[in-house]
Amino acid sequence: MRNHSSLLRTCWVIVATLCLLADSNCSIAADALDRLDLDKLRQLKVAVETLKTDRQPVTRTSEFTDYRACLHVHSFLSHDSNGTVEEIVKAAKEVGVRVLMFTNHPAVDYDFFTDGHRGLVDGVLLIPGAETTGLLSFPTASVKDKLGSEPQAFVDAVQPNGGMSFLCHLEERMDWELTGLTGSEIYNTHADFKDEARFIRVLRDPLALMLKLGPALREYPQGVFAALQNYPADYLKKWDAMCAIKPHTGVSANDAHHNQGLKATIEEDGNLRIDDGLGEKVALIDPEKLPLIKPLLLGKKAGDVVFDLDLDPYARSLHHVSTHLLMKDLTEANVREALQNGRAYVAFDWIADPTGFLFQLETDGNNYEMGSELPFISGMTLHAAAPLPGSFRLIRNGVEVARDLGRSGEFPVQEPGIYRVEIWLNLEGEPRIWILSNPIYIREPESK
Ligand SMILES: [Zn+2]
Repeated sequence: MRNHSSLLRTCWVIVATLCLLADSNCSIAADALDRLDLDKLRQLKVAVETLKTDRQPVTRTSEFTDYRACLHVHSFLSHDSNGTVEEIVKAAKEVGVRVLMFTNHPAVDYDFFTDGHRGLVDGVLLIPGAETTGLLSFPTASVKDKLGSEPQAFVDAVQPNGGMSFLCHLEERMDWELTGLTGSEIYNTHADFKDEARFIRVLRDPLALMLKLGPALREYPQGVFAALQNYPADYLKKWDAMCAIKPHTGVSANDAHHNQGLKATIEEDGNLRIDDGLGEKVALIDPEKLPLIKPLLLGKKAGDVVFDLDLDPYARSLHHVSTHLLMKDLTEANVREALQNGRAYVAFDWIADPTGFLFQLETDGNNYEMGSELPFISGMTLHAAAPLPGSFRLIRNGVEVARDLGRSGEFPVQEPGIYRVEIWLNLEGEPRIWILSNPIYIREPESK
């Protein structure tokens, strides 16, 4: 997450904050704004509630249990978060997250591995890691002396004994080609700041936005958070290309900090003091010089809070999206094994609980999970199923090749390829991406 203090000088701070919540594909800024309409947010909430009643369990033949994991989580160890372990674990429990993979920004005064958060805390498994050098890194020993290395050297240092590296913030490094990566982020909640200018052009009236965002946040906090979620097409394109070279696990990145918020308080001298989500003063506004904000101050006195917008408490960012891991039980070794073998899928949990989602290859009477690699033979079938009816899209080598509507999809395999599945749900007439599977790799048969 970038340093944004220079932007926060006027009421435009609201706009900037919204942009920070934007995902990689927020080029359809008007859509995101449309989604903040109170009526639409209410309808969306009703639609999400209705989905809960439509759920039917999936019967899956598998030895694995579905555990919800959040990668890319920051705590107080990072300069840009105040989150305590207690606060974050409590939030995880609230939304059913069982694995928290921390990615703190390294600093000279601590070792992210040895001083990091780890172990089972109140039923939630913590794994220490770092966001550094364009990577999410989860080593199995301290790599403090390797911090600052070139990316490839850092990946090599992290890798021994089950260490993992994921490419992060892909939008900044579309041309990177590293070896030894475990995978990549295929969605990052805070990914794109590039479209800020477009947002600012669209949002001509910050006061109206403030007045609108306040009630919307109070009533529909998760819907507001999700307003900027779009299909991460650029990320997926890069990911498909990397999978073509070598199996490469796709994960989602919550980029959870709990640092996006704005609080406005009236000072003794009548000025309006604006604090950011970390409680730091970012602006002092003289209402006489900015008449636009005067209506907000009507009937208020010194000491009163004019607005308090908390955009990203942990429970909200952890509920937005997660990486579901298929594991026998909850241990760090199993987390690493599942991620290294691609037995995982990404789901936007805020829409609906995807637990039970299945994407398997059936061949010769056996079922193989996501991440499996097999040589092509005739008679292979790919099965997908989910607890809700949706649009199942089968992607082969980055291109959609088949589509099925319903609670499941069945796709005979005609040729080798790298196959993955996307499930889309219709929410109030708008198709939204819900589930992104990891691929099953069907290789050319060995020549005889
Ligand atoms: Zn981050």
